[in-house]
Amino acid sequence: MNRFRARRKKKRYRLIAVLVVVVLAAGVLLPYCLEPGIPVLMYHCVSEAPRGGDENLYCRPAQIEEELVYLNKNSYTTLFATEYEQAYSVSKPVILTFDDGYEDNYTELFPLLKEYNVKATIFVVSSYVDTEGYLSSAQIREMVDSGLVSVQSHTSGHVELTGLGKEELQEELRRSCAELAKITGRNVTAISYPGGYYNSDVIEEVERYFTYAYAIDTNKYSKSNHYEISRGGVFRNTTLEAFEKAIKTYSQRRICREYLLLMDKIFG
Ligand SMILES: [Zn+2]
Repeated sequence: MNRFRARRKKKRYRLIAVLVVVVLAAGVLLPYCLEPGIPVLMYHCVSEAPRGGDENLYCRPAQIEEELVYLNKNSYTTLFATEYEQAYSVSKPVILTFDDGYEDNYTELFPLLKEYNVKATIFVVSSYVDTEGYLSSAQIREMVDSGLVSVQSHTSGHVELTGLGKEELQEELRRSCAELAKITGRNVTAISYPGGYYNSDVIEEVERYFTYAYAIDTNKYSKSNHYEISRGGVFRNTTLEAFEKAIKTYSQRRICREYLLLMDKIFG
């Protein structure tokens, strides 16, 4: 009788131990499962010497070169901002984006993209094209034709979208799509919100023109949420260690992505 009781007690302890392990494992894994994400990085200018304004927006060419070497060495696949959903079926995806359409994206960045065979997306302000300090139509065409650069919208006039009325907002979005499509000969399907500002009214209109919209540090990671895609900024003072850490944080979330892919295969 005592032996029987002792065995039951042992069994109960074993069950409790298993439950504790399961709960702890779920606690560790669940955050990754709830937040699957694609690493999307946001840059602006690429220049050794800042030309004015916020110095931190000017990443040094050597700094970017170091980051591209890191991505290649660690077998990351660079994708365009228009390939957000496809990124979920890639083992180590990363999306590099450059806002505003500065001329140095052609003179400094483009040679690096060619040298390391890396893809990048430039979110261009369409009314800035062919003006001083910004990309020309010819430069945009050459980069897009190389297959390494995708040119997408950063609106027509770089205005804060949350401050616009419905008609102004529609015009801003429509015009940027039309102007960029005329230059590139390709459909424009992604936008990055100027200043990262958006709200539900903005999303409602953006959905009519674009498939994907990129914001800043929303920390929302989901294959189905196309209009609040989180981007982490890379700045002049971002060290390679900080860059690696940002990428790795996203890579940990890969655990979930691969788990979801497996479930999709089994049950989907
Ligand atoms: Zn901008």
